Amino acid sequence: MNLILLLDDDFVDQSRARLSGRRLEYVRAVHRATIGDRLRVGRFGGSVGYGVVTRLDDAVLELDVVLDTEPPPPAPLTLILALPRPKALRRVLQCVATIGVKRLVLVNSWRVEKSFWASPALGAAALREQLMLGLEQGGDTMPPTVELRRRFKPFVEDEVPQLISGTRALVAHPKAADACPRAVSEPVTLAIGPEGGFIEYELDLLVAHGFEPVTLGPRPLRVEHAVPALLGRIL
Ligand code: SAH
Repeated sequence: MNLILLLDDDFVDQSRARLSGRRLEYVRAVHRATIGDRLRVGRFGGSVGYGVVTRLDDAVLELDVVLDTEPPPPAPLTLILALPRPKALRRVLQCVATIGVKRLVLVNSWRVEKSFWASPALGAAALREQLMLGLEQGGDTMPPTVELRRRFKPFVEDEVPQLISGTRALVAHPKAADACPRAVSEPVTLAIGPEGGFIEYELDLLVAHGFEPVTLGPRPLRVEHAVPALLGRIL
């Protein structure tokens, strides 16, 4: 946790926060903080700064908080991701938040198992929990929006044209002819398929709407590994 994320409910007044639970445990066990220590903090959706420890015991951590810095700049990339299985989704959410992606669209695709859409991992609180872990790692406070699109074709036909406008649109596909570009200077929209890959029809539809198929090479990576590999290469 490179930054302790503070929620509105943590504030007992303008500049004082009181924490318990996971964050208290972490500060005691990992930071091994004592009274007077300065810890990096940020307000969820707001500024970054520091908190001076004024109380720390089994039950409570209290901080005098100064928020004086902007969070890191967003990554200029929108991610369209075929809904992965819940365990991979949690990892991907953390990764995406850490790297600074600010818009994630989880979309259906032929090879997405229907049951994934009923997963508790898609609940608002569960999504936020994973995003918070990712933001704390990346020292950021601004979570990405997470949109759910349960129908692939209407999403591509009706929403994608506007979504990709002004960006370079890439669809990651192991068998693509062209290598994935590196350090792209313009904003990017990146589409990543499900564990079984996009079917031909889906790939063709994306290409017809302006996506370039790109590859990292012939080895198919797991989705949770493809995401950081692709983002690290493109950003
Ligand atoms: N069996 C599938 C692989 C799916 S991997 C196939 O061979 O097509 C899941 C997703 O991760 C893919 O749809 C793709 O978007 C991305 N991905 C994984 N490995 C990749 C690679 N080597 N190059 C480009 N994209 C990759």
